[in-house]
Amino acid sequence: MLPLPRSFATNAIHIGSEPDPHTGAVVPPLSLSSTFAQKSPGVPFPAGHEYARTSNPNRIAFERAIAAAEAGTHALAFASGSATLATIFELLVPSDHVVTGDDIYGGSTRYFRRVAMPKGFEIAFVDTTDVAAVTAAFKPNTKLLWLETPTNPTLKVSDIAALAAAAHRHNPAMLVAVDNTFLSPFNQRPLELGADIVSNSVSKFIAGHDDVVMGALATRNEALFQRLKFLQNAIGSVPSPFDCFLAHRGLKTLAARMALHNSNAQRIAAFLEAHPKVARVAYPGLKSHPQHELAARQQSGFGGMITFWLKGDLKHARQFLEAIKGPFTLAESLGGVESLIEHPAIMTHSSVPAEQRAALGISDSLVRLSVGIEDVADIECDLAQALEHVHL
Ligand SMILES: *Cc1c(COP(=O)(O)O)cnc(C)c1O
Repeated sequence: MLPLPRSFATNAIHIGSEPDPHTGAVVPPLSLSSTFAQKSPGVPFPAGHEYARTSNPNRIAFERAIAAAEAGTHALAFASGSATLATIFELLVPSDHVVTGDDIYGGSTRYFRRVAMPKGFEIAFVDTTDVAAVTAAFKPNTKLLWLETPTNPTLKVSDIAALAAAAHRHNPAMLVAVDNTFLSPFNQRPLELGADIVSNSVSKFIAGHDDVVMGALATRNEALFQRLKFLQNAIGSVPSPFDCFLAHRGLKTLAARMALHNSNAQRIAAFLEAHPKVARVAYPGLKSHPQHELAARQQSGFGGMITFWLKGDLKHARQFLEAIKGPFTLAESLGGVESLIEHPAIMTHSSVPAEQRAALGISDSLVRLSVGIEDVADIECDLAQALEHVHL
């Protein structure tokens, strides 16, 4: 396992959250002001804020904390994870070529296929677990490699260090961006593995309480940061101060929550793998996972997401999901303290064409879990009782 950076938990609690210099408030106040007084025209107060789209205290504080969590030097917060991807894409022009995975977040696929491609962008969708296949997809004008590992929903793991090295060998200026949403910076830090940009849907594990929609990116490249900061301000895809406040509060407990997500999911994955009504379980922490060794090497935890295939078909999946009593809630999204369960073929991935779903293994018996941090015995009990309602 890759060790956590020194003081991950301490930094998450303290960086960007220093006591307020004016009042001593231990938690920096929520600053709703949209504009900031200047001492003389063009001369702001020492904190440097002028207008809240450009910068405001709560967003800057959260961005500092995210930069530290991702082992980066700079970070930017956005109105959503989707807005983060769209803003990164503004670095490109339509004659640029992009390589990405064939099993990425549905909203990212939608952006690539229905926003970028109609404008003329050429995008190759490849199996990123196969470094040779990715390398073969590179063209002279490939400017971005957009990775997601583990993938959603089948939890395939890609080798970030090998892919970033191959991309930079092909073209030192190619940007390697990793969507780190499924693991969070507690479990994986792509910048340490050679990525240029790491992106998160903060809506998931980082905020962690299913009450914020927000995104963030981090980087170690100062020039790239300045360009992205310009785009963030020019496009205006910024989160509100209150969302930054909530996300920052969530980040402070990320280490404690993630440790529980990891241990609860490991136990639930083992329970499911041993269950006679379960055909197969995908969880990177299981020895049976095809990239278990790689996950153990490049991650510092295996995460809270589990995908499994029930024996039987759609009828049996319905029997199972309708019998769920709680703590699981049948709902889309992931990463909150609450355990969530969903059926990708009907819910999150219904927009993926049926033949592509079949090729990726997203069958009607596939169920995705976001294992929360309730008592693990209660989580297991709910699954066990619901499995009794499956009549094969
Ligand atoms: C949810 C999600 C996104 C999009 O984030 P939003 O905050 O919902 O816009 C991107 N990538 C992954 C892997 C996600 O799970």
